[in-house]
Amino acid sequence: PSGSEPAAKIVINLERLQQLPAEKAGPLARYAAAIQSQRGDYNGKVLSIRNEDLRSLAIIYDMSPGELSDQLVDWGVLPPEARAARALED
Ligand code: C2E
Ligand code: C2E
Ligand code: C2E
Repeated sequence: PSGSEPAAKIVINLERLQQLPAEKAGPLARYAAAIQSQRGDYNGKVLSIRNEDLRSLAIIYDMSPGELSDQLVDWGVLPPEARAARALED
């Protein structure tokens, strides 16, 4: 839904992301690495990304943004609160 931002802040668990098999996490891992490079932010255990980036990633994964955030919660890349935040949006 547009206009009802802000949703919960999207904070990716980078350590967990590294543990996932590349065929699942590859696109997200490359996206996160690109953001880290653009920011010069290499030392974090987590990375805050834009809400807008979740929409772009959802297109890459061929899911809705809500489905993708559920998937990321299932993978342990986003905290469970991200699922609750999405439930409020539906
Ligand atoms: P927060 O946003 O809740 O982040 C808590 C901690 O998570 C941060 O502590 C940092 O250790 C880590 N963290 C979150 N997002 C990132 C990220 O994208 N990259 C990296 N490397 N670490 C991340 P920290 O740095 O002591 O910051 C404490 C609080 O200060 C943050 O809480 C936030 O409220 C504020 N803050 C720090 N840097 C910024 C910033 O660039 N912009 C804004 N708006 N707030 C910031
Ligand atoms: P930009 O979008 O022109 O942003 C320039 C600077 O504005 C950023 O420098 C940052 O200091 C600040 N900035 C912009 N939006 C935000 C925001 O929502 N929160 C915070 N805390 N700061 C913001 P920085 O960090 O060195 O990034 C340089 C460039 O790297 C950005 O230029 C952008 O093109 C890209 N970038 C960095 N992080 C992201 C991201 O999470 N998503 C996307 N799509 N691009 C990013
Ligand atoms: P958002 O765009 O969804 O970004 C969420 C968080 O991702 C930001 O929280 C920040 O931690 C990180 N982030 C996003 N873009 C960048 C970037 O270019 N560089 C860096 N270093 N971090 C980035 P934050 O800073 O607390 O901002 C919360 C919201 O406030 C953002 O949500 C955005 O809607 C707005 N905002 C903050 N700074 C700017 C800005 O410079 N330009 C614009 N257009 N919006 C901003």
